[in-house]
Amino acid sequence: MIRRKKIAELIESSDFGSDVTMMGWVRTKRDSKGGFSFLEINDGSTIKNMQVLAEDKLANYTEEILKLTTGCSVIVKGILVESPGKGQKVEVQAREVKVVGWADPETYPLQKKRHSFEYLRTIAHLRPRTNTFGAVARIRNSMSYAIHTFFQDRGFIYLHSPIITGSNCEGAGDMFKVTTLDLQGVAKRQGITDFREDFFGKQANLTVSGQLEAEVYALALGNVYTFGPTFRAEDSNTYRHLAEFWMVEPEMAFCDLKENIELSEEFIKSILSYILKNCRDDMAFLNRFVDKDLISTIDGIINTSFEHITYTEAIEILSKVIERFEFPPAWGKDIQSEHERYLCEVVFKKPVVVTDYPKEIKPFYMKVNKDGKTLKAMDILLPRIGEIIGGSQREDDYETLLNRIKEANLDPADYWWYLDLRKYGTVVHSGFGLGFERLIQFVTGLANIRDVIPFPRTPKNLEF
Ligand code: ATP
Ligand code: MN
Repeated sequence: MIRRKKIAELIESSDFGSDVTMMGWVRTKRDSKGGFSFLEINDGSTIKNMQVLAEDKLANYTEEILKLTTGCSVIVKGILVESPGKGQKVEVQAREVKVVGWADPETYPLQKKRHSFEYLRTIAHLRPRTNTFGAVARIRNSMSYAIHTFFQDRGFIYLHSPIITGSNCEGAGDMFKVTTLDLQGVAKRQGITDFREDFFGKQANLTVSGQLEAEVYALALGNVYTFGPTFRAEDSNTYRHLAEFWMVEPEMAFCDLKENIELSEEFIKSILSYILKNCRDDMAFLNRFVDKDLISTIDGIINTSFEHITYTEAIEILSKVIERFEFPPAWGKDIQSEHERYLCEVVFKKPVVVTDYPKEIKPFYMKVNKDGKTLKAMDILLPRIGEIIGGSQREDDYETLLNRIKEANLDPADYWWYLDLRKYGTVVHSGFGLGFERLIQFVTGLANIRDVIPFPRTPKNLEF
């Protein structure tokens, strides 16, 4: 039996004259009057197609090969030959083309060459067969690998933080509830849902972050990271928000804000370098068809040092051009995505690290500065994307943390275990969360976050 070869491997081969078997899907077919056809086959291993020469002497030429259209699946056996045509080094001279599955050209949605991203979102089961979505899927895979490699190389322990959680880290309003209660006849006591009747005997949610659990393990194992799905029920229909997205969250014991920022810059640069090196064909494709400055922009970021400013400095800069913004910037208010992009794209023309946010606009677990007003917090902003990372040094003082929990109108009883970490062997520790899809957006140049995750979940959108 001849071993099946991936096209990614075959196009690099110069083993001319050897027998090959390949399996894939027809992208295009050209018939020539001279009694032969050219098939372009793609098997997903690379963005490149393999050209197959099928001559009319093949037994099923008229009955089948001539009828092949885009989307049909085939098994091709033949000989690898040097290609006389330009654009490719090798091609396959078919000895046999077996049709595995037909794709009726009357109804197959990818018959046409170009489709809008909006349309492709309605056929999420077929869009990975297009060049763009194939490239994104391979890049997403390589980025996952690069992320694990980055942390594993540095001795970080990969932590599986839970997806169902009993704590509501950043405000319950944004969380999806997990329940087995019969929602028609919910058990109620004094008009309030009685969660004692529910599966866990208390209210359960889908996690918005694995950070609190990562802190538990960092304070035992030193350096850990999570990399998994997180959920936000925020009703924001934007180009950079999903209801289900993946987050990377390292957490480091004996690590302050400065070291945390250093690691995050190194991390971003390392992932970007890996992709430029290891996904050349896919990146070249995206650079050609999605954004002509894609590779040069990424290259620029790898070779630049990030700008560092405080929140107060950011507000000063933004306040000078207040008329440019829909939301006027002001000290004590959130930095909006339009402000983030202005800082990166217009003012500094590079990634910007913003630190020392007012404590009123950030979560309770961030370390309060000596001024009592600001926090050891940092956001990293990228051109086009805005916030890519949110991180901080964590509050490691028991009393301060307890007060912050109360100020946030949370019940300290719910956080007894989190407070315990400050009671027993507390240490300076820090971490950050990076939105995986936002980084993929940045790397691929795709404008909408719905196009960098296989099956996007957004408000009113859950086809399958
Ligand atoms: P934003 O203000 O942009 O909504 P956030 O402040 O809510 O972000 P964090 O809670 O700090 O974000 O989450 C850490 C990272 O996760 C963010 O920096 C971002 O990269 C990513 N992220 C947050 N919310 C989403 C979302 N809904 N979809 C995709 N990525 C997200
Ligand atoms: Mn948010």
